[in-house]
Amino acid sequence: MDALSDRYGRRFPYLRLSVVPACNFRCMYCLPRGYHAAAGTASPLSLQEITRLLRGFVQLGMHKLRITGGEPSVRQDLTAILRTAAAVPGVIKLAISTNGTLLSRRLHEWMDSGLNAINVSVDSLDRAVFARITGRDLLDDILRGVDMALASGLPSVKLNAVLLRDVNDHELPAWLDYLRDHALGLRFIELMQTGDNLAFFRERHVRAERLEHELQNLGWQALPRAADAGPAREYRHPDYAGRIGIIAPYSKDFCTGCNRLRVTAVGDLRLCLFGEFGIPLRPLLQDDDQLDELVGAIRGQIGHKEQGHFLHQGRTGITPQLASTGG
Ligand code: SAM
Ligand code: SF4
Repeated sequence: MDALSDRYGRRFPYLRLSVVPACNFRCMYCLPRGYHAAAGTASPLSLQEITRLLRGFVQLGMHKLRITGGEPSVRQDLTAILRTAAAVPGVIKLAISTNGTLLSRRLHEWMDSGLNAINVSVDSLDRAVFARITGRDLLDDILRGVDMALASGLPSVKLNAVLLRDVNDHELPAWLDYLRDHALGLRFIELMQTGDNLAFFRERHVRAERLEHELQNLGWQALPRAADAGPAREYRHPDYAGRIGIIAPYSKDFCTGCNRLRVTAVGDLRLCLFGEFGIPLRPLLQDDDQLDELVGAIRGQIGHKEQGHFLHQGRTGITPQLASTGG
């Protein structure tokens, strides 16, 4: 079957699946008051529904899957989800995005289940700043989990840090010390405006360009963009084991290389993180016999994917915060 592509010639081998909207952190830019389920919130997709969903996407050329949330490790059956996903023929890269709370305790179990890539949110290397941003004083344990992942030979280990003006945007020297001997990819992410965070966004958004210039002045070199690369601009330096990626959603051409689709925890297809609508796939996940219908429905929607987001105009779509959509 032909791989999925849109009217701008982009292909979508990458699915980001949220498995739960809930989270145990209170990141100041995401869930500053913690997670509270709205009345009538449907339960997340079951293991069986997830399996059917993945079979459909694999038929459309998906081979990279990221399990995200909310916080995926809040789900008791995360290990079973990973095992099930790894067993779907065609899923080659199996990643999770996590705040790392359970990393040091579950890493080996997750790796045994087929996990081969991990992104851990670490917004600061300063324990007090980390606790201020996330509401949890867990930095040391999370960094221990990251070290375990590196020592265990997990093929891809990345850290995500959201840049926040006057909170953590002065930490480049500390990060450089860290990257000298940590062979992982650090991503600095520009804060994005979402439906719920406008006042915070205005106060704390800082463009990543300044940081990028600092890196260039320090001799960091931009890597050529791989054909299947995501939106990060990658840098490396011969004196450092680690690499640095910049994710700047407000930069020109950010959406040109978009290679991903998203499905929310309740099974809504989102063509863009900041899109205006979701397409409920759950009714098509109720029976194994619905596979063709599911594949047809996804293919039918792809023509509605916009060329780019409208964040510059402050249009955040139906994403109140990234936890709800699967960031
Ligand atoms: N809970 C997991 C975690 O924090 O990694 C997975 C879900 S979280 C929504 C995924 C990523 O989105 C995290 O790296 C987080 O820092 C980032 N994120 C959340 N809200 C954001 C925002 N408004 N702007 C930029 N990044 C954001
Ligand atoms: Fe939770 Fe991740 Fe949102 Fe932080 S960014 S509140 S860890 S979902």
